[in-house]
Amino acid sequence: MSARVLVVDDTPVNVKLLEAKLLVEYYEVLTAVDGPSALVVAEDHLPDIILLDVMMPGMDGYEVCGHLKNNPVTAHIPVVMVTALNEVRDRVRGLEVGADDFLTKPVNDVALFARIRSLVRLKRASDEWRAREATAVELGVTDAAQNCVDQKAPGSVLIVAEGMYDRDLVTETLSLQGHSVELAEDDDQAISMAKSGDYDLVLVSDGNRSQDALRLCSQMRSEPETRHRPILIVVPENEEDRLAKALELGVNDYLVRPVERDELISRSRTQIRRRRYEERLRENYTFSVNAAVTDSLTGMYNRRYLESHFERIVARLADSGKPISALILDIDHFKTVNDTHGHEAGDEILQAVAKRIQSNLRGFDTAVRLGGEEFVVLLPDSSLASASAAAERLCTSISGGKFVVSGVDDGLAITVSIGAACVLAGDSDLENLLRHADAALYEAKRTGRNKVTTATGALPLSEAGEPVQEALPTPERPLSAKQATG
Ligand code: GH3
Ligand code: MG
Ligand code: MG
Repeated sequence: MSARVLVVDDTPVNVKLLEAKLLVEYYEVLTAVDGPSALVVAEDHLPDIILLDVMMPGMDGYEVCGHLKNNPVTAHIPVVMVTALNEVRDRVRGLEVGADDFLTKPVNDVALFARIRSLVRLKRASDEWRAREATAVELGVTDAAQNCVDQKAPGSVLIVAEGMYDRDLVTETLSLQGHSVELAEDDDQAISMAKSGDYDLVLVSDGNRSQDALRLCSQMRSEPETRHRPILIVVPENEEDRLAKALELGVNDYLVRPVERDELISRSRTQIRRRRYEERLRENYTFSVNAAVTDSLTGMYNRRYLESHFERIVARLADSGKPISALILDIDHFKTVNDTHGHEAGDEILQAVAKRIQSNLRGFDTAVRLGGEEFVVLLPDSSLASASAAAERLCTSISGGKFVVSGVDDGLAITVSIGAACVLAGDSDLENLLRHADAALYEAKRTGRNKVTTATGALPLSEAGEPVQEALPTPERPLSAKQATG
């Protein structure tokens, strides 16, 4: 994995040393020798990770980190503080200003590359979501999620008790922070709890246990339900290789035993906060995808959805040579409804007609609002005859009961005209199918409305050249017995 690394240190020889190590591993390296220039380079070149010296004259590392995390342009870039200080309070102070990790000088190579790979990989995953969100915001279908999720919001934490000999301290500390804490006695229980529960964080302990903790982590990473769940692992001291392996497996962060309360508090808070943010991004994305393919008035799918859905159906049915039918429904004299009862009454009718259409379909048929007062129903694996029968049912169901509209005492009688057409999967595109259905609809309108008419031009023929359907209806002999209503 290649990545762009910004090295910040006021001692030129330290910069050179780190730069040399990184270049050997093919990383792209940027450098800065003080805080203010680090901020400029970070904003201009958007590195994937920043290795930040703590003690620098003028603006120190804590202050630099604070600025980086408060600037929306750089807030998502992981920061590793490189420091000669290794007191708990120094680490906690760094975590409080948003640092992701610490490395002690002189920097150990295994530790260095494990951190870089792990943090860059986590960043890439959330970059992907942020990019999708940016697109959705650009399309105007959603607002940006707030990066500044409530800093102290409590979360729910799953603690795997096996091997967690600091378990009382851990449980008590997290509970005192307002987090809700649950315990899994062993790894099997942990997996099943993590799969079904909505935990913001899973705490696992390595060493001193009957099963391998890393196997548990790896399993959680491979299951779809637990893939995105943050894992914080507690590791014994001086097990750098083991820790590197855990990070390689996708563990999000770690604590070294003996567990320090304040460090546990800030590291778990960081993970919970990040998960909340990523959940927001995911939800926003799902929402915006839905918004892009849904009609806001009726909640039905829209034309864009119909297009891609048609492609999927064709892909599924093409080899079998099965038919696909489409109905176009158009409300009769809808302009008069608007003119007489107002646009809002018209909207209510559209919503109610949409509901009635949907409640009269088979599960695998799809109804969309094409626009205005026109709807399309796509019927996969349906002959023209059965499509016509479905259309008849719809027609009767709409005309069969009045529609309740606010301000209209007796409700409104509404009718629709329907054109039906059928093609063989793979023989035709959606546009062609709809063109035929539309021609049939035009016939229905021309010959009296409140009726179903079927297209003649696009019928799939049997090998003998006969239409596949029995008792084919034709425009001249529509299936509907209803008379023209005007
Ligand atoms: P026909 O029987 O020939 O279909 O006549 P029509 O009056 O239904 O057809 P026309 O195309 O003349 O008018 C359609 C009307 O639908 C005009 C337009 O204002 C109305 N309409 C389109 N979209 C909406 C909407 O979202 N809400 C409301 N209330 N009316 C809409
Ligand atoms: Mg109409
Ligand atoms: Mg119309």
